[in-house]
Amino acid sequence: MKGKPLMSSIYEKYQLKQVINTSGRMTALGVSTPRQEVIDAVGYGLDHYFDIKDLVNKTGAYIANLLNVEAAVVVSCASAGIAQSVAATIVKDNANLLVNLHSAAVNEPREIVLPRGHNVNFGAPVDTMVALGGGKVIEAGYANECSAEQLEACITRQTAAILYIKSHHCVQKSILSVEQAAAVARKHQLPLIVDAAAEEDLLCYYQMGADLVIYSGAKAIEGPTSGLVIGKKQLVEWVKLQSGGIGRAMKVGKEGILGLTQAIESYLTQEKTSGAQMVERMTPFINSLNTLNGVSAKTVWDSAGRDIARTEIAFDEAAIGMSTLDIVQALKTGDIAIYFRGYKANEGKIEVDVRSVDQQQLTTVFNCIKKLLEQQA
Ligand SMILES: *Cc1c(COP(=O)(O)O)cnc(C)c1O
Repeated sequence: MKGKPLMSSIYEKYQLKQVINTSGRMTALGVSTPRQEVIDAVGYGLDHYFDIKDLVNKTGAYIANLLNVEAAVVVSCASAGIAQSVAATIVKDNANLLVNLHSAAVNEPREIVLPRGHNVNFGAPVDTMVALGGGKVIEAGYANECSAEQLEACITRQTAAILYIKSHHCVQKSILSVEQAAAVARKHQLPLIVDAAAEEDLLCYYQMGADLVIYSGAKAIEGPTSGLVIGKKQLVEWVKLQSGGIGRAMKVGKEGILGLTQAIESYLTQEKTSGAQMVERMTPFINSLNTLNGVSAKTVWDSAGRDIARTEIAFDEAAIGMSTLDIVQALKTGDIAIYFRGYKANEGKIEVDVRSVDQQQLTTVFNCIKKLLEQQA
């Protein structure tokens, strides 16, 4: 496999834990492994000089054309995208405020209205990113409820933008839709910012009426560490201006810009691995697991309805003499650290997502489970 010999020497050189990631896209494990053409684009970027403004503008226009949106810009990550989008709606093209965002008197509107159920911790808190961008979060509605009327009730002359977080981290029930939030924004002539960091659809939120939409580069798109902001031309221009303000502390390099641009193109044009293909890859693994005492494995489908198949492994804790939580812990702390999807570990079940593992790693996962259970017997 690509780069594996070098990688194993890096693990040795720094005495790093070898990690097998069967849990999906996790920032704590390094998110994703981009395909070769993305790695090549990153390499090309590192090896050449550019007029950076030209690079930012031309790649932005290229991405905007691919996605059929007015404008786009590559940023360093989605969190930086939130902070700079918020700052853009507050600062606009005010040259003084650009460089005095946090020290200037609060004359310009700075309030960012957000459904309370969207004020989540995605690994860091949403409101920390808003504060970084000079904004002040105003929570609309309740933890489990926010209607268009409740959102609208929080809008004052101090409102700079509406923020909507599209994520499995958020409360889903009884919260207004992106379209409804867009209608409220339109009515009050405010920009709607949608954080869609981990979402797979690069088109729909813009089409639903969002003025700025933010994606994480390494999650669904499988790019390098980076982020994407797409949206209305004027607003994206203001986001770009932030590189002379708070954006400098979250600078994206030429390699990130070229890598993400390639990753977006690949993501849009290359065929995705289908659920059926995942099932095919998993079948020998499932069959082997089912030969182990106290273990039963089967295919399960993504609960959010995406075309993703995973292996569900159920442990008969009494027969094995070990709780599932202890099994998960033991496999995480072995010589090779294996991370599972552990959402249902308290029910005696774990899941394996095969998208981030190769065939050899799948065999290693099986061997580690087998060895652990043999030690226990
Ligand atoms: C992952 C995530 C982020 C942050 O993305 P980064 O690119 O890691 O900064 C922000 N919002 C949501 C909803 C996320 O899932």
